[in-house]
Amino acid sequence: MTLTGKRILMGNEAIAFGAMKAGLQIASGYPGTPSSEVMETIISHAKKYGIYAEWATNEKVALETAVGAAYSGANTIVTMKQVGLNVASDPLMSLSYIGIKGSLVILVSDDPGPHSSQTEQDTRAFGHFSNIPVLDPSTPQEAYDMTKLAFKLSHELETPVILRTTTRVSHGCEDVLIEDIDPVTRDIEGFVKDTRWTIFPKLTAQRHPLLEELQVKMSDHFSEYFNDNTFNSITKGSSRIGIAASGVSALYAKEAIKEHSDVFSFFKSGTAYPFPEKAALKFMKGLNDLIVVEELDPYMEEQFLQIAGKYHLNINIHGKKNGSFPVSGEYDVDVVTDSINRALENIGSEDAESAAASIRLSHSVAAVKPEDIPALPIRAPTLCAGCMHRTVFYAFKKTAAKLKKQVGIDSVFSGDIGCYTLGNALPLNMVDTCLCMGAGISVAAGLSHTPEFMQGEKAKQVAFIGDSTFFHSGIAAVVSAVYNNADITIAVLDNRTTAMTGHQPHPGIGLTAMGSPAQMIDIAEVLKSCGVGMVKTIETDDLDKCMDIAAEAMEFEGPSAVVFKGKCVAICKATGQYVVDEEKCTNCKLCINQLGCPAIFSISSGIPVIQDTCSGCGLCAQICPSGAIVLKEA
Ligand code: SF4
Ligand code: SF4
Repeated sequence: MTLTGKRILMGNEAIAFGAMKAGLQIASGYPGTPSSEVMETIISHAKKYGIYAEWATNEKVALETAVGAAYSGANTIVTMKQVGLNVASDPLMSLSYIGIKGSLVILVSDDPGPHSSQTEQDTRAFGHFSNIPVLDPSTPQEAYDMTKLAFKLSHELETPVILRTTTRVSHGCEDVLIEDIDPVTRDIEGFVKDTRWTIFPKLTAQRHPLLEELQVKMSDHFSEYFNDNTFNSITKGSSRIGIAASGVSALYAKEAIKEHSDVFSFFKSGTAYPFPEKAALKFMKGLNDLIVVEELDPYMEEQFLQIAGKYHLNINIHGKKNGSFPVSGEYDVDVVTDSINRALENIGSEDAESAAASIRLSHSVAAVKPEDIPALPIRAPTLCAGCMHRTVFYAFKKTAAKLKKQVGIDSVFSGDIGCYTLGNALPLNMVDTCLCMGAGISVAAGLSHTPEFMQGEKAKQVAFIGDSTFFHSGIAAVVSAVYNNADITIAVLDNRTTAMTGHQPHPGIGLTAMGSPAQMIDIAEVLKSCGVGMVKTIETDDLDKCMDIAAEAMEFEGPSAVVFKGKCVAICKATGQYVVDEEKCTNCKLCINQLGCPAIFSISSGIPVIQDTCSGCGLCAQICPSGAIVLKEA
């Protein structure tokens, strides 16, 4: 099948196609919204194009794997979300000193908003911090073209290149013009021993000045892109007011000023780091005011402020720092329109002569009026109907309540990042702490040591972690907890997939990313070999047994663990549907007030109703004191 021509592609798919067109040979990543579809797309085409692709256990491992391949001369990509770059930051910081052979593109997706992340980080700042160039596409087409450019730059400059996207570029779709892809035929040289691959202080000292020189050269190089490169452009307007923007914010800004586009000079940059200083200086000369439009950090704004200071330019800069733009959250055309208006008001009060001072941008009239759109149903974030995690949380909740009643000991539940973070929702309310991937176990271990320093009863510490997260960063936390005699119970919620990011496989599944059979790593065996004193495995279909085993684990002195095995409801078929027998139901509402299964619906005057989203897990039937919840007859 020929791929040449225009195809509707999501930004992430466009990046995958761009990488494959650039001669990608090896890809590695860890799933994380909004980045996951890059690897998914590569995996689905890998065999056809002779590419090797894998899901790694975490972002650090993924980067190191790609680095090893690049040291051998391969064309490589590694994918992750912005918080994943924190995990990968250790090798990243050394990498700019060492450099690479072949090519290495680091795809990092930022999440302004944030929609599904712990933080609103800006990867452009990481580029600056690590001295690694950053490209910042604003559309799926640019994402495709910039991916090819990133491979080329990486190869030419012998440095990794970060391709940074944001959610609307990663998940937005447009007609993308792509070229046919040839299966990879280029041989790689292989690893050649050389002192350059070993980072010692002497090498660091030698390389650092060269690295700084390279930043200046790259900044000059990116400034030249303003002459003939569509990612970077400058247009002149009739007033002395300029607008500078990058990434998807450039589209919002262009839309906001479209009625007055001839008034404003416009600076659009897709090369975020090193900042194209010479081009920016040329643009700023002759302007009285500059409005900077960018999501997340005031990164460009700070670059412009530095240039204004360095060259003594008499220019007012309006952005996040003077309150014209919101300092956090995702932007859209409406936010940008209001913010530019705020900046124009400031300009108006300072400069009555300004031609643009009287301009007020108006919001475009929506094709459908907002008031005509029916209100969306309120859908609280909750575990799916029939999710196995609900059984585990419920079992621990009941066991902890019993423990409290019998011996007066409280329990603290340390959660982790994954679907099971939703265990914090009422009525379960089972996540007392949540910090980052793999931290549930370490936080619980830390808490377990605090009784040494406090008065009163010690609490029982329980840590929840998912199967994929266990491999991501849980194992190191288990080793530390065992080594330091932490008195904790670890509950591994093993639903046989990396559920929250789109059901990617992991080392506990027995399948590689490309579908080949693989050695399955047994979590219980890993826990045992780490020295956990009590390790049990149980299926989650019997609530009473789950409660018994939870009690046994919580009563154990020292580190204990239970691997709860089930299957994510999103990857298996419903096994039946339960209904409420009106004759038997006493309307105690226990099934609603205790479980929070979204399939069970409360109606104000009558008995609960079970909707057809019921997956047939049978949990509600097990807790109904009247035996009123029964399997619906076929
Ligand atoms: S059986 Fe009960 S708890 Fe399970 S999905 Fe159906 S309604 Fe929800
Ligand atoms: S727990 Fe059983 S008896 Fe109570 S409301 Fe639900 S179905 Fe009815």
